[in-house]
Amino acid sequence: MMRKLLLQASALRRLSTAHSLPSLLTSSSRRCSSSSSSKTTSPQPPITSLEHLDDGPSQATSKISIDRSALYNPPEHSHETSSDSELVKHLKGIIKFRGGPISVAEYMEEVLTNPKVGFYINRDVFGTEGDFITSPEVSQMFGEMIGVWVMCLWEQMGQPSKVNLVELGPGRGTLMADLLRGTSKFKNFIESLQIHMVECSPTLQKLQHKNLKCVDEDSHNGNVNKRTISMLTGTPVSWHAALEQVPSGLPTIIIAHEFYDALPVHQFQRASRGWCEKMIDVAEDSSFRFVLSPQSTPAKLYLMERCKRAGAEEIAKLDQIEVCPKAIELTHTIAKRISSDGGGALVIDYGLDGIVSDSLQAIRKHKFVNILDNPGSADLSAYVDFASIRHSAEEASDDVIVHGPITQSQFLGSLGINFRVEALLKNCTDEQAESLRTGYWRLVGEGEAPFWEGPDDQVPIGMGTRYLVMAIVNKKQGIPVSFQ
Ligand code: SAH
Repeated sequence: MMRKLLLQASALRRLSTAHSLPSLLTSSSRRCSSSSSSKTTSPQPPITSLEHLDDGPSQATSKISIDRSALYNPPEHSHETSSDSELVKHLKGIIKFRGGPISVAEYMEEVLTNPKVGFYINRDVFGTEGDFITSPEVSQMFGEMIGVWVMCLWEQMGQPSKVNLVELGPGRGTLMADLLRGTSKFKNFIESLQIHMVECSPTLQKLQHKNLKCVDEDSHNGNVNKRTISMLTGTPVSWHAALEQVPSGLPTIIIAHEFYDALPVHQFQRASRGWCEKMIDVAEDSSFRFVLSPQSTPAKLYLMERCKRAGAEEIAKLDQIEVCPKAIELTHTIAKRISSDGGGALVIDYGLDGIVSDSLQAIRKHKFVNILDNPGSADLSAYVDFASIRHSAEEASDDVIVHGPITQSQFLGSLGINFRVEALLKNCTDEQAESLRTGYWRLVGEGEAPFWEGPDDQVPIGMGTRYLVMAIVNKKQGIPVSFQ
């Protein structure tokens, strides 16, 4: 996510790029006062040493096939220590009762979204006070520009009188609030919207409800279908745990900003006996440790599928590969929905247009930490493999077409962010101007801001080329704006 990239990019040397930025950047929005205060020169946590498990008697489970010798030789000591958090106890419990290590993907999923104690579930993790910052929190211009894109697509769709606008993983709801405010003057568009927020965290659902200024209509006259309305624009809003639960049958526009990077990845490592899945086990001293699976695991099928689509030379260079089956499934669902109902999806995340090697990171309070250290207290995220998203969408339906990825800088530039920032700068305080300039740089710049005159450790880092943008649209809609 942005915070990771901020940290990584801060290690880059100040760039003297002749970015063709507006003159506004020669002197000095809103929410983001933080910049690289969390800078670190060693962005990657030390890799925990890998150990091979001894081959032992094994049984297949429905989930994973691994060394299960622990079933037969249970360790004498308990894995739990009194200071273990609920999540740590839970993870150790799974490992113990499963009789062996769990995949990195299972660990990641539990850590982030365990319904009781997952990282996202019980708190607001965003902003300078939280663990990381995302683009919608950096500047209102981000949500406004997405609003322009969505409205253009709606026009290309023939201005349907009803459209499902779905956001996957809306965080604080800031992007959607800015989108609604930015497009509120376009009555036909606004009146067509039915907003669906796909969010697993009850805490964040409440925050989204608040930030969209929602009111719950009373159920009167025996009407059991209570509606929730955003008072920003009078738009109905509803919440769902998964995309599949969003009612189908209406043309649909889906936004996924920094959602894919939170989906669990399996990690594989090249060993003398071929590709082995990296697993997580409990060591003698009760801490978590990485081990390599001694034999094939079900997720290896995904690795094989992924490798088939990559060049042999590309694979030969790699010692580690990540695959994300959940991303493939989600893209499949998105493509099917867009194929049957019409519309399109916008995916924005950091990642690569190709196979991803070893990108999983943990961030706590704006700093990189060890992935295995106090799980649940740090965010985990991985680079998005945009090429595999493309494959999955194309495979799911002949009715959809994939555009991009292009860089966020190209995307926001083509939507007119330069004009927007110039317009906002005409009517603001000095403090707001400073915030607008740094926010603008963070969204579209590259590396450290050349205009920055403040403290070195707060220099804004541009992420404009680190974030990529991809569109999956129904062929009927033609080429979406920004991708022409
Ligand atoms: N898009 C927001 C937040 C990104 S963080 C922004 O850019 O600011 C990821 C978001 O996805 C959080 O809201 C998190 O609670 C949600 N999320 C993560 N995994 C999820 C899952 N499996 N199902 C539903 N929501 C999920």
